[in-house]
Amino acid sequence: MISAVMPTYARADLVFERGEGSYLFSTDGRRFIDFASGVAVNALGHCHPAMVAALKSQADKLWHCSNLYRVPGQEKVAAKLIANSFADTVFFCNSGAEAMEGVIKLCRKYQTETGAPERYRVITAIEAFHGRTLATIAAGGQAKHLKGFEPMVDAFDRVPFGDLEAVRAAITPETAAILVEPIQGEGGIRPATLDYLRGLRKIADDNGLLLAFDEVQCGMGRTGKLFAHQWAGITPDVMGTAKGLGGGFPVGAIMATEKAACGMVAGTHGSTFGGNPLAMAVADAVLDVMLADGFMEHVRKMGDLLWTGLGELVNKHASVLEERRGAGLMQGVKCRVPSTELSKKLVANGLLTVGAGDNVIRILPPLIVEPAQIAEALDILNRACAELAA
Ligand SMILES: *Cc1c(COP(=O)(O)O)cnc(C)c1O
Repeated sequence: MISAVMPTYARADLVFERGEGSYLFSTDGRRFIDFASGVAVNALGHCHPAMVAALKSQADKLWHCSNLYRVPGQEKVAAKLIANSFADTVFFCNSGAEAMEGVIKLCRKYQTETGAPERYRVITAIEAFHGRTLATIAAGGQAKHLKGFEPMVDAFDRVPFGDLEAVRAAITPETAAILVEPIQGEGGIRPATLDYLRGLRKIADDNGLLLAFDEVQCGMGRTGKLFAHQWAGITPDVMGTAKGLGGGFPVGAIMATEKAACGMVAGTHGSTFGGNPLAMAVADAVLDVMLADGFMEHVRKMGDLLWTGLGELVNKHASVLEERRGAGLMQGVKCRVPSTELSKKLVANGLLTVGAGDNVIRILPPLIVEPAQIAEALDILNRACAELAA
């Protein structure tokens, strides 16, 4: 008999009843260091006091009123995102896939609006992940996500990640935009080089294309800047973000320049729940913490500690670990053993991580992590690798 909850996930048999900072506590009384962070969602850890206070206070006032009316929380959060990014305007939604679906729509609308309606296709990267809607599984192009859901939305041309020549070669008169993740997450923590991102900017400019980034996972402070592409000193025309933005409350956003969003007028896009007052109260609190003095510096310092520690482990356990990858607090280790074996050992020893493509284990600590928890996690990794090597 089918389970009451549709069985679309291979879930670990673990139930958590409480979270606090970097820790999760299971119903059977165990404590875990949470370096999965709900897949980069719990950016401020669990039950951050500022988020709890914002949620509770808004809960007593107003939860939802619809986008038929002005929502001051949206205006406030949008202003903060705009002040700290390339964007001139923001659309709020509820998830990463919804944000990316909107990004794709915006790219088409821009081309139509500026006199090139024949330009509707988007160049994306192989091993990319953009969500689980019909358009975003086609954009990602992973066979395992598409199987049985054909026909695939025919609007994407996929090229190897990191190869500028392949992007140039894929451009046709129907190309509207280029879309990549500055750091591929699900694909296996693969950072684009800064020169690749700069090259994409130039190609887009030279060919009248929009440059779109998916910072659903790598954005919101993950890399030690609010957005990962900011390390490259270039800007996209449009970008989707989500995961860390609500810190655990479902919030996504499409961020765009005024030029790119020129066609997004009343009636062109919508979302019933998008940016409701409850969501905006939490996102506002998250941004206040992230934008405070010293926060990004903390992320970079913790990222360096983790990077150094992982480097030592890769050297020490060369039969188990092949290499470390990533930036800031978005890191991973590529395994020489099946990564699921290592992650099971980590769980048994009290450390939560996330699997990814390319036999990689993602290590995504909450951004508020402290050196003691990084040391503890590295110690668990060290023991697990030693056990696997034996
Ligand atoms: C998680 C993710 C998405 C999809 O987000 P959902 O909230 O699961 O819809 C899209 N793009 C990237 C890069 C992601 O990591």
